[in-house]
Amino acid sequence: MLNSLRTKLTLSMLITSLAAISVMALITPWLLEQRFVNEAREVHFKGFVRAIEEFRQDHQEWGGRQSALLINQYLSNRQAAPIRPALSDQRPTVSNSFRFVLTDHQGFVFLPFFEYELGQQLSAEQLQQANPLTLDGELVGYALGGGELPLTDQDKSYLLIQSRSMLIGAAAGLAVTLLLSLTMGSQLVKHLQALTRAAIEMSKGNLNQRVQVEGKDEVALLAREFNRMAQELNNTYAELKASNETIKAQAEAMQELSLRDELTGLHNRRYFNQQFRLMHHQAIRYQDALALALGDIDNFKQINDRFSHHIGDAVLKQVAVLMQKEIREADVLARYGGEEFVILMAHTDKRQAEGLIDRIRAKVEAWPWHQLASELHVTISFGISDKLDSDLGHSMLVEADNRLYQAKDLGRNRVCV
Ligand code: GH3
Ligand code: MG
Ligand code: MG
Repeated sequence: MLNSLRTKLTLSMLITSLAAISVMALITPWLLEQRFVNEAREVHFKGFVRAIEEFRQDHQEWGGRQSALLINQYLSNRQAAPIRPALSDQRPTVSNSFRFVLTDHQGFVFLPFFEYELGQQLSAEQLQQANPLTLDGELVGYALGGGELPLTDQDKSYLLIQSRSMLIGAAAGLAVTLLLSLTMGSQLVKHLQALTRAAIEMSKGNLNQRVQVEGKDEVALLAREFNRMAQELNNTYAELKASNETIKAQAEAMQELSLRDELTGLHNRRYFNQQFRLMHHQAIRYQDALALALGDIDNFKQINDRFSHHIGDAVLKQVAVLMQKEIREADVLARYGGEEFVILMAHTDKRQAEGLIDRIRAKVEAWPWHQLASELHVTISFGISDKLDSDLGHSMLVEADNRLYQAKDLGRNRVCV
């Protein structure tokens, strides 16, 4: 949960706004109080200046010890100026302890308070802090404020209310931040989550992944790049698949070719050997009949010699066609050697095989061979065996071969069983 980007985003937004609100809540009341006090000093000074002006209208005395006493008395009798800025309709009050030290235009104190003494000249630094007093545009002296200027109870309660309101505002702000960060966070994270899901799916092998691209920010950039890479991966995969299929097809074709005889198109001896091993094994295991016939074209050497090798090839091809026509779907026919053929017959004993094979022999004999060459005659002899011994078919082959020799011995163009 803490690892999710959404939580992290929400937390960081919350922490940021909490920090901002805390700083604001701490600084603002202090600033407010400072401004209150400064404003009060300002207002108080204006009141003081007004009082001095009034005093000057009544008394010509100014700057001497006598005038200091008079001013002091005058100020004490006079209704003092408000020290608070008119922020509320409270009655203004004057702090007893707040006073102005007065100097003449040269900075010599004639109304001393606090640590200042009568006749003392203020330093340049002190004069800079003091408020210059001008009457009718002429500098007549300086007033240097000092002492406590405490806030009224109303001011304090005003500031307290202000602080409390600020706290409530801060809490509301935090709640809004939480709400916003949750909704905005989920909006921001939504696309990243989609990206993560797509990447995981891809690593599982589901390559056809696309994500939505919105806007132009980094996430959108990432999404666009992801889509591009996914597309590339898909293309590469498709190409690989296609070339893989081509290779597979080529391998199958090669395999098929390696098991075929080029001249007749029949299966070759290698294929026969594979099938024979398998069918022989199954026949023994299920106590099923299996017959094997070896065929050899009679006097083929003579055919070659008399009619040419080319005619010999044509004879081989035609014999293959005739045999192919006669055998059954489950039988295996192969070119065994030069002019020798082999037929493997499943679920067939030698007597049943004899009928089929003799039909082939007769078809070969009866075919109009003069079409290939005048005076051409072709016959074929067969030897059949259905001997099942647990010797990988060796005795079956030997017996069929012996029967074939027997057929040749007996004058050819016949089937020996
Ligand atoms: P038999 O009746 O005793 O079988 O006599 P044969 O002449 O048929 O037997 P032999 O084994 O003496 O001769 C087989 C000939 O077959 C020899 C070889 O030149 C020829 N031959 C083998 N393969 C091919 C081939 O692919 N094409 C052609 N045209 N002749 C082939
Ligand atoms: Mg031969
Ligand atoms: Mg022969």
